[in-house]
Amino acid sequence: VQTCDVVIIGGGAVGASIAYSLAKRGTDVLVLERGMLGNEASGRNTGTLTVLTERLTKVNEAPLRSIALTRWMRLSSELDYDLEVNLGLGTLVVAENEMEAQALPPLKAAYEEKGLSLRLLQAAELRAFAPYLSNHVLSGLYCALGGKANPRQVAWAYARAAKKCGARVKEGVAACGLVAEQDGTYTISTSEDSVRARSVVLAAGPWTSLLARPLGVELPLRINYFQASVTTAVAPMLPHLLRRMSGQLTLKQASQGNLILGGGWCGASAFPQHGRILLDAVASNCAVAARLVPALAELSLLRTWAGYDGSSIDSYPVIDEIPGWPNVFVSTGSSGGFTLSPVLGDMTAAVVLREPSPFDVSSLSLARFPGAVRGDSHARSDELVTW
Ligand SMILES: Cc1cc2nc3c(=O)[nH]c(=O)nc-3n(C[C@H](O)[C@H](O)[C@H](O)COP(=O)(O)OP(=O)(O)OC[C@H]3O[C@@H](n4cnc5c(N)ncnc54)[C@H](O)[C@@H]3O)c2cc1C
Repeated sequence: VQTCDVVIIGGGAVGASIAYSLAKRGTDVLVLERGMLGNEASGRNTGTLTVLTERLTKVNEAPLRSIALTRWMRLSSELDYDLEVNLGLGTLVVAENEMEAQALPPLKAAYEEKGLSLRLLQAAELRAFAPYLSNHVLSGLYCALGGKANPRQVAWAYARAAKKCGARVKEGVAACGLVAEQDGTYTISTSEDSVRARSVVLAAGPWTSLLARPLGVELPLRINYFQASVTTAVAPMLPHLLRRMSGQLTLKQASQGNLILGGGWCGASAFPQHGRILLDAVASNCAVAARLVPALAELSLLRTWAGYDGSSIDSYPVIDEIPGWPNVFVSTGSSGGFTLSPVLGDMTAAVVLREPSPFDVSSLSLARFPGAVRGDSHARSDELVTW
């Protein structure tokens, strides 16, 4: 049986970032990843780093996202790996019809209430600002804060930095069960052997819901099998992150020139197993993108892929200790877990070490979801919980 201070289950951007934050503080960490680091949502997302949330909810995520973007500015040098971070793009949200155009000023006011600064661009001004747009686009809202990074190696880069600080990382090893020992520690059975730890962090993305359920917690996650596609490379033509006022679309140009299309088009989910790409959704995503940016109609698709996203019903992260299970924590549920990964790592590390968090974590607790904690499960010595 191996021993460590903290076992982290899940080697996505969130789990690996937590490992890095803990290992930096001298904690003895072991990460268990059943597949490859960052091979789920963390390596399949479209790499948007934005302060504009997908939907405006009651919680104000803007300050957290702004801090995360500040961390991204120096993340490549911190992790000693080029993550292809470009924060100079900004996000442009466009209106295609009168109804959408009328909704932009109140949206601007709502974002400004959350502390963000935006510009409303009317027809002529928009045309000069974004000449790649189709003439039918009426107006746009621009937020200068935001950009992108290449997601492919981000989890791996966090994990490598954690390893440099002494962390151990096991790929191809699944966590299969948990036993609370009499001395207050836990034994985690894995597909390989067992690990004994003082604390356990469930950071398995949407699969965290399956790990938390036998511990008496029903995580209120919306689990979607999101699709994304990439075109062949072209000369620079899209200097912004593009979104629609209503309806699905995110569009950006990668550093190598390929255009990346996404924005919440779903494949056929078979959660917890992998699902299937839906060609109709690929076609709709392309059609919407080409309607806004006509030059896109001339390009070919190179690849389409999909991945599971599990964001909480208020889209805000969940970081908390599981009631009845001392030193067992969850860290999941953000709708922008890639953007927020540096701060999710720091906040979770602080909660696990019971240190003051650099950012307020009280609003991230399970208590905000009535009924999420069933209360019918607690740590009983020597009783095996099977996952
Ligand atoms: C198509 C798509 C586009 C997106 N676009 C963006 C975007 O542009 N910007 C943004 O900020 N966010 C985006 N997101 C969301 C973002 O990718 C996720 O919020 C983030 O990657 C979640 O990271 P994670 O580490 O929590 O989860 P994951 O990346 O899902 O990692 C969880 C890991 O846990 C492992 N695991 C599960 N069960 C076990 C077990 N029993 N034992 C061991 N390991 C286990 C899995 O194998 C997996 O590697 C997008 C998501 C998708 C799917």
